[in-house]
Amino acid sequence: MFITALSAFDDNYIWAIQPAANANQVILVDPGAAAPCHHWLNQHNYQLAAILITHHHWDHTDGVKQLVQQWNCPVYGPANSSFTGITKPLHHGDSVDLPELKLQWQVIATPGHTLDHLSYFGHGTLFCGDTLFLAGCGRMFEGTPEQFHQSLRLLAELPAETRVYAAHEYSLANLRFAAAAMPGNAAVAAAQKRVEGLRDQGLPSLPTTLIEERAINPFLRADSVSEFHRLRQWKDRF
Ligand SMILES: [Zn+2]
Repeated sequence: MFITALSAFDDNYIWAIQPAANANQVILVDPGAAAPCHHWLNQHNYQLAAILITHHHWDHTDGVKQLVQQWNCPVYGPANSSFTGITKPLHHGDSVDLPELKLQWQVIATPGHTLDHLSYFGHGTLFCGDTLFLAGCGRMFEGTPEQFHQSLRLLAELPAETRVYAAHEYSLANLRFAAAAMPGNAAVAAAQKRVEGLRDQGLPSLPTTLIEERAINPFLRADSVSEFHRLRQWKDRF
């Protein structure tokens, strides 16, 4: 599998998945804007085979209508979403099966940031939208601390080597918070150095890995709902 980051807005990543490098068929995750997708697909003469949506927010969905008009592809996403463009509604425990591309993802309900939020796990990759970020997690707009903590627990149990493709480049700000929340954590200091180096070169800091997140992510490491809630409230005003 081959994955490319398409940048949108200030700090969104739209992940473009191909079964192999230069494969003609592409799957897009959370195309909040159509223009960068059209540009990249046309530039390489690729075809859009499917869209995966993690949750209803506009910066993850606003490009869908225009892309579907051109490519007429299926749109996978949460069955309980307020976003109306989903043609393949999914529940926790379902899978996204694309046999012609030899690709399959497991659907994991991860409410907390929003109530409809889904994450997709397969082929050693996790597309987790705004649930889990490098050294951080999304804001708790709709869910409860119990839901969000449980969602992070589910993701933490995936294999350590899983590559985590989050939807935003928030890594440096998240690492500043992680350094405050976990003073003296050497893994956080090392991650800050690594991410600064990547960002200085204009490169994405993502994907991260679960093994890395278990070391540097205070939200993933929170061992109780109350600890998660305390951190989330602190980060909201940090
Ligand atoms: Zn969001």
